Amino acid sequence: MIKVAINGYGTIGKRVADAVAAQKDMKVIGVSKTRPNAEAFIAKQRGYPLYIADLSKKAAFEKAGLTVAGSVEDMCKAADVIVDATPGDIGVTNKPLYEKLGKKALWQGGEDHEVAGFSFNSSCNFKDAIGRQFIRVVSCNTTGLCRIINEVDKAFGVEHVHAIMVRRGSDPGEIKKGPIDAVVLDPVTVPSHHGPDVQTVLPHISITTMAMIVPTTMMHMHAVRITTKKEVNREKVIELIKNHPRLGLVKKSAGIKSTAELKEFAMDLGRQRADLYENCIFEDSIYANKNELCFFQAIHQEADVVVENVDAIRAMTSLANDGTASIKLTNDALHFVP
Ligand code: NAD
Repeated sequence: MIKVAINGYGTIGKRVADAVAAQKDMKVIGVSKTRPNAEAFIAKQRGYPLYIADLSKKAAFEKAGLTVAGSVEDMCKAADVIVDATPGDIGVTNKPLYEKLGKKALWQGGEDHEVAGFSFNSSCNFKDAIGRQFIRVVSCNTTGLCRIINEVDKAFGVEHVHAIMVRRGSDPGEIKKGPIDAVVLDPVTVPSHHGPDVQTVLPHISITTMAMIVPTTMMHMHAVRITTKKEVNREKVIELIKNHPRLGLVKKSAGIKSTAELKEFAMDLGRQRADLYENCIFEDSIYANKNELCFFQAIHQEADVVVENVDAIRAMTSLANDGTASIKLTNDALHFVP
């Protein structure tokens, strides 16, 4: 049983904690918080020992009825693997601690590739991650792009990818971010960072990305155009999506045309937190003509990387020999029904 600590129990950390707790081969030995907020009460309710970054705040936690198990360093000492889910650019500052303790650690996409020197996606490079001390799980958008690009590349060969990301302005629980009424070009320059980020996982892929932010919280939407080396076949594309455990086909018959309807569907499915771990690729949008493939896919930013974190833990600790086996274990434990 691999002992996992979650450093940073926020949007991603709380989901990874629950996903780890659901697996048979790993367990959560602690989570960390900086403030005694609502998420800290959820950690207590779930039975995750609570550790804090700054021990001088122990009294504030205990006054709120939250037992503090110790410092973040105490938590890391007790773990085999640390999932660092602190905000972007904070994670890198924790690296000296993990190095000092000689622990395995994985970071999220808010950190640069260099934090670990290896960027991970379960479907693309699981085998290369086996036994590593440090891994970075790429961001939500990059995860969604890597999954589908890799499959199209295996089937038809990718000549070039052009993807436009329409990104959510904030996560649903965030009250200080926007925009409230604007379409923001972020960045205004081309390419956006997403293309180079895909290349940290798939270095041979030629890709140009553009990105903007809109006033929505639910999901990102990608408009993807791929030119292929071999002539592309629409039925085969649909087949490869159906056969991949993390690519979801939004069937024409479902009548879903928006992120709002997708989230409603996830709620009706009974998914925890209405999480959609898979790419949601709209069947009706799949257009194939000669060497050109186009489609829309929606990506649930809070969820798709969660399952990748679980697989990354398996790779680092050699609990599985290949991505397919780990993905199946992870998906099954989460009762992942497409
Ligand atoms: P978040 O702000 O929701 O959660 C971060 C948590 O870390 C909070 O609980 C905060 O209290 C805690 N924290 C802050 N400083 C800390 C410290 N020094 N030590 C311990 N804990 C500390 O952030 P998030 O959205 O979960 O993002 C975490 C990482 O995941 C970032 O790298 C981000 O880029 C990446 N990511 C986020 C999303 C998303 O949509 N939210 C998607 C994919 C990847």
